[in-house]
Amino acid sequence: MQKESQGAYRVAAPASVDYNQAPPPPTHLPLALILFGPPGSGKGTQSKLLVKTLGIPQISTGDMLRDHVRRGLAVGTKVEAKMKAGILVKDEVVNRLVEERLAAPDAARGFILDGYPRTRAQAETLCGMLAAKGRDTVVIHLVVDYNVIIARLTGRRVCPVCGTLYNETSKPPKVPGVCDLEGAALIVRDDDREEVIRQRLEAYESQTRPLIDYFREKGKRLYDVDASQETPEAVFRKIEVLIRKP
Ligand code: ADP
Repeated sequence: MQKESQGAYRVAAPASVDYNQAPPPPTHLPLALILFGPPGSGKGTQSKLLVKTLGIPQISTGDMLRDHVRRGLAVGTKVEAKMKAGILVKDEVVNRLVEERLAAPDAARGFILDGYPRTRAQAETLCGMLAAKGRDTVVIHLVVDYNVIIARLTGRRVCPVCGTLYNETSKPPKVPGVCDLEGAALIVRDDDREEVIRQRLEAYESQTRPLIDYFREKGKRLYDVDASQETPEAVFRKIEVLIRKP
């Protein structure tokens, strides 16, 4: 080590270090990011923004299940009625889907879990899987006022062709009732009918919300993010800051 004139010490760089290489991603970048919150809290929207920035995939159990239903696969036939009624499907079914999905090569660098885990049994299975993979985990809890959720879900419309989501008040299409991208007539998702929304919120309150305590007991990093009033982009910026915290 060599003392410089200003009194600072300079450490000679080892010959093997290549300074032209891009710096590695910060080690505290979460590899398993759990987006947690009630239906209508914006988990899907935030996941899509995070996918772009972090370059890791979104794993949405709701999307995976809907895909199985659409394709008429065995799992789809089993879960369709429950999904239409806003009731949670069996833990074994979603746990298996997630386990298979996490084994795919694109999940090796990390993933964003959207809508999973939703029960204590799912959280336990997930924690087992993450421990086996040695994952750093961060839980982002999107906190949204109950009345805002109801307004969002009852006004929600979806394009049956491309899946783009609209909202009659907060994100209307250019021509009422018509998808901007496909020109198709927008529809109401089966489980966005009012009585089903109530059932989904009940399932959240009784089975999913208690997981906040579970994550805390397990010592997982959990951040509450107010997602009631701000734009999706503003919520996203808050999440970005939190997940990069050491
Ligand atoms: P939302 O979060 O708006 O309720 P999702 O697309 O995440 O919508 O889920 C739609 C439906 O799919 C749920 O009501 C439930 O029937 C089923 N589902 C999705 N994820 C799970 C899960 N982790 N456990 C059990 N059921 C699930």
